Amino acid sequence: MAALEPVIDFIFPPRCPCCGAAVGRHGGLCTECWGGLAIPAEPWCALCQRPFGDSGPGEGAVCAPCLAHPPRHDGIFAATLYTEVSRKLVLAFKHGRRVALAPMLARLIAARLGAPEPERVIVPVPLHRWRLWARGYNQAALLGRELERLGHGRLVVDGLVRRRRTPSLGGLGRAERRRTLSGAVAVDPRRLADVQGKDILLVDDVVTSGATTDACVSVLRKSGARCVRVACFARVLDEALDAASSPKSETPGTMTAPGAT
Ligand SMILES: [Zn+2]
Ligand SMILES: [Zn+2]
Repeated sequence: MAALEPVIDFIFPPRCPCCGAAVGRHGGLCTECWGGLAIPAEPWCALCQRPFGDSGPGEGAVCAPCLAHPPRHDGIFAATLYTEVSRKLVLAFKHGRRVALAPMLARLIAARLGAPEPERVIVPVPLHRWRLWARGYNQAALLGRELERLGHGRLVVDGLVRRRRTPSLGGLGRAERRRTLSGAVAVDPRRLADVQGKDILLVDDVVTSGATTDACVSVLRKSGARCVRVACFARVLDEALDAASSPKSETPGTMTAPGAT
């Protein structure tokens, strides 16, 4: 790959994928955009790693949302919190066909995961086939493939399937989201052996309300997964959601047709 760089540089001078500023080499952000990424830091919730901020409670504390509704997953690893910079990156990656961003986004996720665990099974959050057909790729699967390359598990790209399309979850309450997603995701019966008794890493680009990941975690558990952890590039927290102007979909800040995620 390195041998190709001078040629690529000649054709496309390296640019920051977020703001377009010239950068030293391909695959990196400019200094300013790096600075705009919000990396979750301790102290955080013992169950979901929601950062408490500097004045937060001590080790082992659990956040209010987790107290009210204990999460179904066994932990969530978010490379970043959803800010302007991560939003732009996700939009470019997901809707702007910038699939070349996958290695960089996955490296940031991998930085949260700790030591490689090749025994783990990586399962992407599935897209409905119509959406897959329209977009041409499942962004979660691209991240999963990169995480596999980095040694964080074995990718089972079709471990989960979407059985039907679901409308946008934006604006729906907790119960409505669950109802909307009920039965929409399933473990592919042909992949049961890849799930039973396994440690699963469920991968998505953005985790918003958690309703979609909860639905995925539930069916993975019902199929016998030993443990399900969630890995994502950007995590939208309720407090950030409240501050944002009008997040209407699983990719807040985008104006997408109903049903688009
Ligand atoms: Zn930049
Ligand atoms: Zn929590």
